[in-house]
Amino acid sequence: MLPEEVMKKAQAEFLDWKNTGMSVMEISHRSKEFMQLASKMEADLREIMSIPDNYKIIFTHGGASLQFAAIPLNLVAENDTVDYINTGVWSAKAIKEASRFAKVNVVSTSENHIADLSSINFSDDAKYLHICQNETITGLEFQSLPSLDKPIIADFSSTILSRPINISNYGVIYAGSQKNIGSAGLAIVIVRQDLLGRARGSTPNLMNWQTYVDNNSMFNTPSTYSWYLAGLVFEWIKDQGGVSKIAEVNKRKAQKIYTLIDNSKLYYNEVERNVRSWMNVTFKFNNKELEAKFLQESKDIGLLNLKGHKAYGGMRASIYNAMPEEGVDALVQFMQIFEKENSSL
Ligand SMILES: *Cc1c(COP(=O)(O)O)cnc(C)c1O
Repeated sequence: MLPEEVMKKAQAEFLDWKNTGMSVMEISHRSKEFMQLASKMEADLREIMSIPDNYKIIFTHGGASLQFAAIPLNLVAENDTVDYINTGVWSAKAIKEASRFAKVNVVSTSENHIADLSSINFSDDAKYLHICQNETITGLEFQSLPSLDKPIIADFSSTILSRPINISNYGVIYAGSQKNIGSAGLAIVIVRQDLLGRARGSTPNLMNWQTYVDNNSMFNTPSTYSWYLAGLVFEWIKDQGGVSKIAEVNKRKAQKIYTLIDNSKLYYNEVERNVRSWMNVTFKFNNKELEAKFLQESKDIGLLNLKGHKAYGGMRASIYNAMPEEGVDALVQFMQIFEKENSSL
């Protein structure tokens, strides 16, 4: 979901952006106007995420998935060991890809909980630890981090900007833009400066973070319209009072659904309570036959996209920043009525 205000603004400016007589899609990415957009977008992101000066921000192509390979290529040599925590589908994909470029040690595997971080046996010689901050498919989110003397690299695709975080706890944060920011086509990588300049000689230019830093992320033509939309979303976040204000709403939104599920005899959630996601709330039915009925009746009243990922099943309410609290209230109300009507089945 994108904020309605953002889409309306994009619509109003579509044919004539900033009195240029052109769409933002039609102007050159080297033009003065677009360069201004780019630097404002970066400054706004730095402000709303409180990104310290010793971190560089990169805007890149290829989604989060391209970073699965870019991370080992930029950070380690082929024979280096790297640690990965596997908490589900997205970490598993990151592991599979990284295994082609480094010696990956999977230090912990679990799906509905996260192992006690103080008891995990990290490799002494690992150059970094990779985690998926929020597993989008099951709805499992790290609520704390292990204390380590090596950089933590985190996939933030489905939780970036959902709450304030301390960037300094991480070496690299990366995210595709299509979940909690804007349209697809853009990924954001936030890298601690001392981790730059280590890429292997064979790293393709367009996967080398240094290339992006040296060229303000314009080594080649960027996905200009996605940049523009991301910029509008960052402005929208500022208008909402910033990430901490949004976090209050996000926390309340998630709690409303989890509370209903936990008090229900019809629905259940499989994720351990202390690591439940604020962004993706999954639930299943004690009576699986109700799934199709639930999906049809919810769709009929305008509650859309509730089908869970096929790899996990059940239902999933993805309640990203742009989902208003009223949307969650409508879902909760529907779930209560549905339970009443179907509790005898
Ligand atoms: C969606 C998602 C991805 C993949 O993003 P792409 O931009 O499609 O590559 C990776 N990680 C997580 C956690 C995701 O939710």
